[in-house]
Amino acid sequence: MFIQQLRNFFLVVVIFASILLSYLWYDDYSFASNPLSKNIQVKIYKKHQELQYLTSKYFKIKRVFPIIVSDELPSSRFGMAVFSKDSKITIYLNKKRFKENEDYMINDVMPHEYAHAIMFEIRDFSDENKGHSKKWQNICKKLNGLRCDRFVNHQDILIEKTNLFK
Ligand SMILES: [Zn+2]
Repeated sequence: MFIQQLRNFFLVVVIFASILLSYLWYDDYSFASNPLSKNIQVKIYKKHQELQYLTSKYFKIKRVFPIIVSDELPSSRFGMAVFSKDSKITIYLNKKRFKENEDYMINDVMPHEYAHAIMFEIRDFSDENKGHSKKWQNICKKLNGLRCDRFVNHQDILIEKTNLFK
């Protein structure tokens, strides 16, 4: 009887460990060489989950916008939201900027860029304030953005020419 319980216990431990490992190996973000620490990757993953939840809750949008951590963005940029010719919406985060301030990247930049992605999804391509319109600000706040500042002076959205503009 005791052996049986021990066996069950081990089975549970093995299953739990496998789940934990696959979680730690979560590989949905593309990292070039020299990846960010697992700790930061897990934080990005959790924030992404939160943003998906809020997007679904407040805007009834089920689409998940991929987040790519890249070291190819100019160092002046924290992140970017891109609407491509084939209507793909992608968020890029500047890997170099994580080294100085990961909390800012996760709590400010991620909701900021996600709000741009939602604007693209609802096909609002307003150029007001370089994409930082009042409507964008309200979306950013709903996503728990810490500083949904409309007076950002950087340009961080890229809309590739599509049929929409003909
Ligand atoms: Zn912006």
